[in-house]
Order: sequence, then C-alpha cells, then structure tokens
Amino acid sequence: MDAYKAEQWLRTRATSLHCPACGQKNFNIENTIPMTNTLQEGGHVDYLNGCPLVAVICQNCAHVLFFAAKPMGLA
Ligand SMILES: [Zn+2]
Repeated sequence: MDAYKAEQWLRTRATSLHCPACGQKNFNIENTIPMTNTLQEGGHVDYLNGCPLVAVICQNCAHVLFFAAKPMGLA
C-alpha cells in the first residue's frame, strides 16, 4: 500500500482530520491494507469478500480511523 499516496489523499480530502478520542492531529498510516469480512445470510462469514481499508492511527492514543481504500485509488 502506498502510504505516501494515502497521506496526500488525506491532506487534500480530509482537511480537518483530528483524532475523535484525544483531539490531536498527528497520525501514522499502516503500510498494509486491512479488510472487513462480509456476514452472509444464515450467519456465515465470507472472509474473502469485504471492504479494503486504509488504517490511520493516532500517534498519541493509538485510536484507529479507517478510510475506504478503493475510492482513494489504493485497492
Ligand atoms: Zn488520539
């Protein structure tokens, strides 16, 4: 995952980004792309179908914010 591209995208699109837990504005971006799972009808979990995410982690309190990677051009 291109963390530099993610950072540039966030700088232009999420201009008021701050941590909802502690209020500070310094973050790290994970180099990997976590992904959600999908709950199928009947309660089965499809581990291969989900939403790829960009994880943005607060440098102060470690709170994690997720952004959808596909619209960001990263997945
Ligand atoms: Zn925080």
